[in-house]
Amino acid sequence: MTPNGHAGASIVAAYVIERCVFKNQATPLTLGLSALVGLLPDFDSLAALALNRYRPSRNKLEHHAFPSHTPLFYLALTAVLWSTGMPREAVFLGVLSLGHLILDSWGTDDGIMWLWPLSRRQFSLFPRNLHAGGVHGLRFYRRHVRCARVFVPEVALLISGSLIALHTLYWGVA
Ligand SMILES: [Zn+2]
Repeated sequence: MTPNGHAGASIVAAYVIERCVFKNQATPLTLGLSALVGLLPDFDSLAALALNRYRPSRNKLEHHAFPSHTPLFYLALTAVLWSTGMPREAVFLGVLSLGHLILDSWGTDDGIMWLWPLSRRQFSLFPRNLHAGGVHGLRFYRRHVRCARVFVPEVALLISGSLIALHTLYWGVA
């Protein structure tokens, strides 16, 4: 999933959490922060760039094989928040990061390490060889979203998240 899909999915999930779990109105601040939290797992790509392990136009970003893209990593962070008296933040982090990992396992070429540290095997539903022929960078994303199995959920999540965000911004609450 691209950052657009992750952000849209996070806004939808945050809206549902706020309304159904906490019985609150969703605010623009909550939705905006949730979009960022939903993108949090992909911040490890910045570390890959800084460590020179990733060059967008030359090689594959291997961050789905990083521990920072595993359920255990985010369960541990969620437990830390919960145990330090921030249950609301813990619920958002737990749900949004798990949602990110599920979407990273949908129609990608590698998937994520769901069983880490027991196994480093990566699981992907509908795996596709997206880098065949040495395709990287923007060409990789173009190939990725041209598949209906990816394009339809990506656009549906982006539109849904955008509509909820716009409604919240213009009418105060959603
Ligand atoms: Zn990711």
